[in-house]
Amino acid sequence: MKPAPFAYHRARDVDGALRLLADLGDDAKVVAGGQSLVAMMNYRLARPRHLVDIAGLRELDRMERDSTGALRIGALTTHHTVERDPQGVLGRDFAVLSRAMEWVGHLPIRTRGTVGGSLAHADATAEWCLLTLVLRAQFVVRGPRVERTIPASDFFHGYYTSALAPDELLVEVVFPRPAPHAALTEFAERRGDFALVATAVDLDVVDGTVRGGRVGLGGVAAAVVRVPEAEEVLAAGGSFADCAAAAAAAVDPPEDTAYRKSLVRTLVQRACEEAITA
Ligand code: FAD
Repeated sequence: MKPAPFAYHRARDVDGALRLLADLGDDAKVVAGGQSLVAMMNYRLARPRHLVDIAGLRELDRMERDSTGALRIGALTTHHTVERDPQGVLGRDFAVLSRAMEWVGHLPIRTRGTVGGSLAHADATAEWCLLTLVLRAQFVVRGPRVERTIPASDFFHGYYTSALAPDELLVEVVFPRPAPHAALTEFAERRGDFALVATAVDLDVVDGTVRGGRVGLGGVAAAVVRVPEAEEVLAAGGSFADCAAAAAAAVDPPEDTAYRKSLVRTLVQRACEEAITA
């Protein structure tokens, strides 16, 4: 399959990309790693008349800790850079991010696909969407006039839709708190496929005891979700098995309902057990 005809524009910097988006209007789409968008164009599921290529914007390819200890990841950082963590930025606080990357597609996809592209694409099973939700990340978004910050809890709106406006760029994701007891696990039909169900948990551990935590799921609704019912079990000192049962009881996946609920139960317990020993 080949895409419908389009005009190609290469942005030189963030301001230039924003100008192009403003000038070209709703017919334009940003392309970063192209690992999702180009496939959609080839299948004619997306037919942008203009592509604004941001892949050369090196200013958005960075991963650093700021003075507060928060982790800041530029939108053009690839999955593979996070997996390798070449500068040792993640440390134990954010090691969950590099461990989770092994679940994202295959190596060639991870070397091209970007963190920002994955989040903007807003797939309901994407590992990055789940991680940002559970780790309470903030999205830094620039538009033609203003920069705004959107909490992950407000970013994902439904099937492949997010809070991003067509003329906005996601420039950075900020993980404000260390998450030394976090884990992501999932089940896919074949290694490297998108998950049928994915889960991420971030446990609050004080003196070796779990005091609470966040539980997120992908593949059970139109967007990634947190599961308050399972989080209440953790806050009340319940077992991981009870937390997992509460998660399975709380969700109602639109497809393969019984099967996915049983996956939820298995995976949430597994993720909690991995997180406590992380
Ligand atoms: P692109 O494809 O370039 O863009 C995707 C969308 O995001 C487009 O709408 C684009 O306009 C928009 N966009 C990109 N960057 C920005 C930005 N900075 N600001 C605003 N909008 C932006 N992903 C997973 O999460 N898990 C998997 O298991 C997985 N398996 C895969 C298997 C295969 C075979 C393939 C081909 C892909 C797979 N992916 C998987 C997708 C991969 O992670 C992509 O890299 C990712 O979804 C999109 O990143 P990208 O940089 O390629 O974005």
